[in-house]
Formats: sequence, C-alpha cells, structure tokens
Amino acid sequence: MAVVKKEDAISAFKTIMMYYGIDDAELISKTPARVISAYDELLGGYKQEPEDVVGELFPLDFPYDEIVSVKEINFDSLCEHHFLPFSGKVNIAYYPTENYVGLSKIARLVNVFARRAQVQERLTWQIAHALMDLLSAQAVGVQVTGSHMCMALRGVKVPAKTTTVSFLGDESLFDKLNESIRG
Ligand SMILES: [Zn+2]
Repeated sequence: MAVVKKEDAISAFKTIMMYYGIDDAELISKTPARVISAYDELLGGYKQEPEDVVGELFPLDFPYDEIVSVKEINFDSLCEHHFLPFSGKVNIAYYPTENYVGLSKIARLVNVFARRAQVQERLTWQIAHALMDLLSAQAVGVQVTGSHMCMALRGVKVPAKTTTVSFLGDESLFDKLNESIRG
C-alpha cells in the first residue's frame, strides 16, 4: 500500500472543499487539517491489533462454566461505502474454557475493529473471531445493532436499525448465547 503523507491527505481534503466552491478563506483554513485529525481518530483501529488491547488473560482457577456477557457496548464506526458514520451497540457473550479476560478489554477490542472503514456484517464477524481466537472460548456470540447515517441522510433517507449476529464454537451452546445477547 502506498504511503501517503498527512500533509497530502490534508491538501486532498482542501480539493474536495474547492470542488464545492468552499474556498480556503481565513475562517476555515484549518478545517482540512481538523478533518484529517478527526479521521485519524475514527480510523485509529488500523494502528491496533486485537492482541495489543486484550493483553493479559486470567486463568480460570475456579469452577465457572457459565456464560459471561457484556452488553450495550457503544461503538462508532465509518461505513466503507460512503465514509459516513454508523453507531450503535454491541452485545457479547461467551463460554470460557481456561481463561477469562478483563471486561474493559472487551470494549477495547470492539474499538479496534469499529475504528476502521467497515460494514456492520464484517465488524460483527471480526469481533466474534478475535474473541474466539484470543480466549480459546468454548463458544462466542456477538450481536451488533447499528444506525447508519448513509441510510438516514442520503439515498432512501429512512432511519432504521440493522442487527447482525455471529456465533462461533460449540453449536450446542448457540441457543443459550442467543438468548443472552438478545435479552
Ligand atoms: Zn454506507
């Protein structure tokens, strides 16, 4: 992939503004740099890998053979087709085997994938896969519910909520995971 300098990204956004007849007047002269800084945050997930944020796993040294669920984790992402935001909530449930993970780490893991150019289906799948890989869980269920600005503001212009789910691991546990993430 070609390496592009930040100043080139800033001047590219200046070009977009000029396309709309917005000239580089004093008041908004810093806008292109601000826009790129904002995208640096919205797309910051490219600088992270799941294993960096999950960090230490804790050994399950007590007999816990039930679901762990973390619900209503807020996320903000960017749709890869229109570069408009989509936001919502992630519900996660898993059956641990030998290890469990700090609960705040699960929210960080969501952000690694949400803070990229995404489609909701892939985001859901990536979160489930990363949890499964990192935790060697028995089974994992993930539900993402999102509102997409590209649907609300343009095209059909109808606000709606989209739900996607992903289940991995031992299929006999999927029903219970499903109850947990939807509840
Ligand atoms: Zn879109």
